[in-house]
Amino acid sequence: MKARIAGISVEKALRYCFAALFSAAAFCASAADQSQPIPGFTDTPFLPGNKWRVHDPARPQPPVVAPGTASSQERPGRPPSDAIVLFDGTDLSQWRDRDGRTPPWRVENGELTVGKGTIYSRQEFGDVQLHVEFCTPTDVGTNTSQARGNSGVFLMDRYEFQILDSYENPTYADGMVGAIYGQYPPLVNAARPPGEWQTYDIVFIAPRFEDGKLKSPAYATVFLNGVLVQHHAEILGSTQHRRLASYTPHPPTGPISLQDHGTPNRFRNIWVRPLKLEE
Ligand code: MG
Repeated sequence: MKARIAGISVEKALRYCFAALFSAAAFCASAADQSQPIPGFTDTPFLPGNKWRVHDPARPQPPVVAPGTASSQERPGRPPSDAIVLFDGTDLSQWRDRDGRTPPWRVENGELTVGKGTIYSRQEFGDVQLHVEFCTPTDVGTNTSQARGNSGVFLMDRYEFQILDSYENPTYADGMVGAIYGQYPPLVNAARPPGEWQTYDIVFIAPRFEDGKLKSPAYATVFLNGVLVQHHAEILGSTQHRRLASYTPHPPTGPISLQDHGTPNRFRNIWVRPLKLEE
């Protein structure tokens, strides 16, 4: 009778040990040298609806991206290495007004102040991760509700993520900062006081249309000041005021826009990462 370790033959146990050592060595080598074969398994089941196997070594390696650095009140952060920078504090070259001209918004001290008319990114986008920093005016005057610190970030020129001074400033819940305007209040009110810099991080999945009909709606996941305020929210259609949102077919990409709502809000550090989710 053959000797057995943990219920398997010595011969088999040794084979497992060598295999484990070999894959550990191969893994270390690949970390040091990208030309080495990628460790993995080719005898595993296929993932459902997928051409890749579980632990498939042929599955493409994700591109390397250097992460950015966080923002503070004093200083904007740095975008990740693969972001398209829409405003880095220097100029409005990435933006236009409705007619394609340079918009009359002021750039000063690395900040962009809302001027006359909504502005639009010159480049157009579909699915994105978007980072925007904003600051509503310290002097709130006698303004209340929607008149205090109002602006907004629109995706595809249609879907508004509300900007408002929502610090001790009651308004209808689906109109406060962090809201998908007229559709979803934020999960929590994570607003900072007026005069402090705030961050919006938005993951937006564009709607799909086919033969002039909605194939799949838009979705959004949103962080305000690092706090989750929207989780995979199904967008009901183009933003409306006092009306129910509905979809109108539109091209697969569109501009990102910043709203002029008559308040001199400021912006800084705006960047976007187009997402290739279907590859
Ligand atoms: Mg607004």
